[in-house]
Amino acid sequence: MRRLVIGVLAAAVAASVTVFAVRTSRAHSAAPPSALDEALLEWPLPPADQAYARIDGKHLHRYVDEQAAISRRYRDQGHPKFWGRIIGSSADAESADWLANSFRSLGMSDVRIQPLPLDPQWFPQKWEVTVSGGGKTITLDSAQPDYRAAALPPGGIDVEAVYGGLGSAADFAGKDLKGKAVFTYTMVGLHDEGAVKRADERGAAAMFEVDMLPGNMRYQGYPSNTKAPAFTVGSDDGLAVRDLIASLPPGQRARVKATLDVDMVPNLKTALVWGTLPGATDETIYITAHKDGWFEGAGDNGGGVASMLGLAEYYAKIPKEKRRRTIIFIGLDGHHNGPDGAAGKTWLTQNKEKLFAKTAILINDEHPSTITTQSRPRYYPGDELAWGNTYMPMQWYAGGKDRPELRKIVWDSFKKFGVPLELDPSPTPPASDASYFYRFTPAIDASEYHNYFHTDWETPETVPWTGLQAATRAYAKVIDEVNKLPLSTFQRPEDKGNHSDFDE
Ligand SMILES: [Zn+2]
Repeated sequence: MRRLVIGVLAAAVAASVTVFAVRTSRAHSAAPPSALDEALLEWPLPPADQAYARIDGKHLHRYVDEQAAISRRYRDQGHPKFWGRIIGSSADAESADWLANSFRSLGMSDVRIQPLPLDPQWFPQKWEVTVSGGGKTITLDSAQPDYRAAALPPGGIDVEAVYGGLGSAADFAGKDLKGKAVFTYTMVGLHDEGAVKRADERGAAAMFEVDMLPGNMRYQGYPSNTKAPAFTVGSDDGLAVRDLIASLPPGQRARVKATLDVDMVPNLKTALVWGTLPGATDETIYITAHKDGWFEGAGDNGGGVASMLGLAEYYAKIPKEKRRRTIIFIGLDGHHNGPDGAAGKTWLTQNKEKLFAKTAILINDEHPSTITTQSRPRYYPGDELAWGNTYMPMQWYAGGKDRPELRKIVWDSFKKFGVPLELDPSPTPPASDASYFYRFTPAIDASEYHNYFHTDWETPETVPWTGLQAATRAYAKVIDEVNKLPLSTFQRPEDKGNHSDFDE
């Protein structure tokens, strides 16, 4: 649960800042949402930009809630551990219908769901991991197989557990990992030791990568590309395993029993969802947001879809003749099934000449608002992910070094509307869908990837309405500023990847 921090701690934080904390002992819920809503800092609109007041973050946040509800419905229909708006699943289809209906309700043109066939998709059916020693058995509830992890043999494995520290070469020195279950420990912000790969190369039977962020989150990892399956494990479970191993007398070893059944399901479909707001010309602006996400996927990418809908609502109310360019919205299938599985990207790339010939910009709306968190703030008692009352700065990209005008428009607009950005733009788009498109069309992206990313704690509360509002207003401002300038300001020949993305 969250609680207001009072007394000495409150005095230690700036007077205007309310700090919420998530206890580690249980999944959060609890504090009335209104308390959080009212605690958040709202950036005032500049007097000259009152037109953007119509973009209302509390209203947009309801779209985040609705998408999270789609995920929970799927979870509650017999998918308790691998759930979300997962590509190819019934939740994917429900979210496509939901988005198309939202577009239709705004009176948009050419609203359609374009089905796309999928290669066989990875669906883990069930798994269980226990660790035993000294008469004690721990069940690792938080263990989550990395995407595309190989199944374990029927009946599972029963092998020795090895404590592997950070999983660096030094940590593994002198340890025999062959045929064993190896536990390594890391968290976002630590140096990447390549622990999972290293243990795999040393012949481990299974790898367990403990995420040391406070709590016991389930984290869905991208493919580890290892022979043996890799699982992520929450901090509470991972520390319990470490302490169990430490408690055993010399000569006794902890044992791991693990099962993992996986189906590769053929003949599934996903979809692109289209909606158009015709403009005064056939020049185009694209706004994309991926619909898929793991668990509730509130930030990734419920927030991006909500923000995209906010832009659709805003421009739907402006007469066609006052919209200089046609705005095309696409709910993308997404990429959580791996970059090679992104069917929508493939189709859009194959049709790039036709689609993007007259495109001024493509805004990829992805993870635009995330609550600020600090992991174990200095002088806090216990293990906490403490919440601040604002939103995180984002990695961003705005056309790269060859489009200085676009960079300036994006920087100025975000600054004006109170959207924090990293000081330097990323030379290429962050790890978002814009990375598929930026070489052949002018792409913009600003995204956040921190503590709750891809976890079952990425709930709607982690997406502040204030950030949704600010980012969506900023994107509208970007569109309006771009519409004052000709295509030639933004269009460049396709970059075939033969020149440096980095500023000189
Ligand atoms: Zn995303």
